[in-house]
Amino acid sequence: MNKKIRTTSQQLTQLFLTLFIIILFLVNLAFAGISTAFIYNNAHEQAEEVIDTVSDNIGGHDEHKNKKEWKLFLNAYLARQSNDAISLKTPKGKTVYSEDGEELFEKVKNHRNYNNVVFMENSVYYLRTANEDGYRISVILNVDDLFTLITHLLLAIIILNLIAIICSIPLIKRFSRKWSQPLEKIDQDIEAIEHQTTAKKKVFVPKQPAEIHHLAQSFNKLLEYQDKAIQREQQFVTDASHELKTPLAAIRGHINLIKRRGKEHPEIVAKSLQYIDSESSRMEILVNELLELGRAKKQHQSIDPIDLVPIVQKESEILEQEYDTCSVYISSPIKLFCPIEIKDFRLIVHNLLDNAAKYSQDNAKIKVELQKDNGYLILRVKDQGIGIRKENYDKIFDRFYREDQAHSSQIKGTGIGLAIVKDIVTKYHGKISVSANTPKGVIFEIKLPL
Ligand code: ADP
Repeated sequence: MNKKIRTTSQQLTQLFLTLFIIILFLVNLAFAGISTAFIYNNAHEQAEEVIDTVSDNIGGHDEHKNKKEWKLFLNAYLARQSNDAISLKTPKGKTVYSEDGEELFEKVKNHRNYNNVVFMENSVYYLRTANEDGYRISVILNVDDLFTLITHLLLAIIILNLIAIICSIPLIKRFSRKWSQPLEKIDQDIEAIEHQTTAKKKVFVPKQPAEIHHLAQSFNKLLEYQDKAIQREQQFVTDASHELKTPLAAIRGHINLIKRRGKEHPEIVAKSLQYIDSESSRMEILVNELLELGRAKKQHQSIDPIDLVPIVQKESEILEQEYDTCSVYISSPIKLFCPIEIKDFRLIVHNLLDNAAKYSQDNAKIKVELQKDNGYLILRVKDQGIGIRKENYDKIFDRFYREDQAHSSQIKGTGIGLAIVKDIVTKYHGKISVSANTPKGVIFEIKLPL
C-alpha cells in the first residue's frame, strides 16, 4: 500500500535503460547469428571445393591404387597444419582415408551431428559427404580457428556492451532528468501556490513538449478562473454585508431614538415605526433575493417542457395591477413549450418586467415577444424607459451593481434582480443580452436552447 511513488525521471531512466539493454541484446543475438552462418557457409564452401577437386582428379585407372597411394593422393587436397580428413569409397566398395583420416572418421561417427557440424573434445568439425561418379567422398574440416575467432569477438562485444550499459546509466539519468524537468518545475510551483509560500499565482509554462505546454497553460487558466471566483465571492460577502448593514443601522438608530425620546416625544414613535417598517421590508426583499440567487445556480435535472405563454400573460397582469399606469403588449404564438422549471421562468419574466416598469416613467409601454428561432426560445422585453449607458451593459448583470441614474432617481432596488436572471439563463446554457431600444429605453433578450 505504502509503495513509494516513483518520479517521472526514475521511470524514464528505467524505461530507457531497459530499451537500451534490449537493443544491445538483439544486436548481439544478430551478431551471433550472422557469425554462425558465416562459419557454416565458409566450412561448407571449403568442403565443396575439396570434394570437387578430389572428384575432378580421380582418373579411371585410380581404381588400382593401393592404400598408400590413395593416402598420398588424398593428402594432397588437405591443408597440412589443420586437422582435416578425407575418406573415399570407390565404386567397388573399398574405403580409403587421408593421413590419420580413419581415426578421425571413427571418432566423428560416435558423436552427434548438428546440421553437419560436430562438436567433440574441444574441437568443432564440419562434415560433408557427396557422391561423384560412383565415388562417395566425405570431408571433415576442422573449423576451430574460425570458431575461436568469433567466440573471442563475441566475448569482446559482450564486455563492450557491459561497459556501455554502465557508462550509459548516468547519461540516461541526466537526459531523463532534463526531460522531466518541466513537470518537476510545474509540480514545485503548484506546491508553492498550495502552501502559499509564493506570491505567484501561475505555474511555469515550458515551451516544450507541447502537451505539457498546453497542460500548464490550462492549469494557469483554471487558477485564474478560481482566483476570480474567490474574489467575486469575497466581494459578494462584502457587498451583501454592506447592503444589510445600512437598513440594520437605520433600524437600530430609530429603536434607540424611541427608547431615549419616545416617552417625552410620543409623536416621533409613529414616524420611526414607519421607517423601521420600510427598512425591514427592504431587508426582507434583499434576503429573499439572496436566497433566490443561491437557488438560481443549482443545477436542474432533466425537465419536461412547459407552456410559457400563460406564465408571461400571468406575470404581465400582475405587473399591470402593481403599476396601474403601465401596459404590457404580448406578441407570442398560442402555445410555446420549453424545458424549464416554472419557478425559474416566472422569475426571469418577473424581474425583467419589473425593471422595465420600474425604470420607465408613468404610462410605461412594455412589449414582450416570445418566439422560437432555430432551436432556441427567444424572449424579448422592450421598454421605453430611462435606458442604460452602453458602457454599463456588462456591469448591470453583476451582483449589487446599480446604475447611478437609478440611485439618483431614487428608484428602489437591490442590484440583484438581473444577476438572478443571468444565473438562471446560464444554468439552462442560454444567453442574455441587452441593447438600446428606439427611440429610447432598452431591450433585454434571452435565448434558451429548446
Ligand atoms: P435593481 O433593479 O434591483 O437595482 P437589477 O439587477 O434588476 O437590480 O438591475 C441592475 C441595474 O440595471 C439597475 O439598478 C438599473 O440601473 C439597471 N437596469 C435594469 N433594468 C433596466 C431597465 N429596464 N431600464 C433601465 N435600467 C435598467
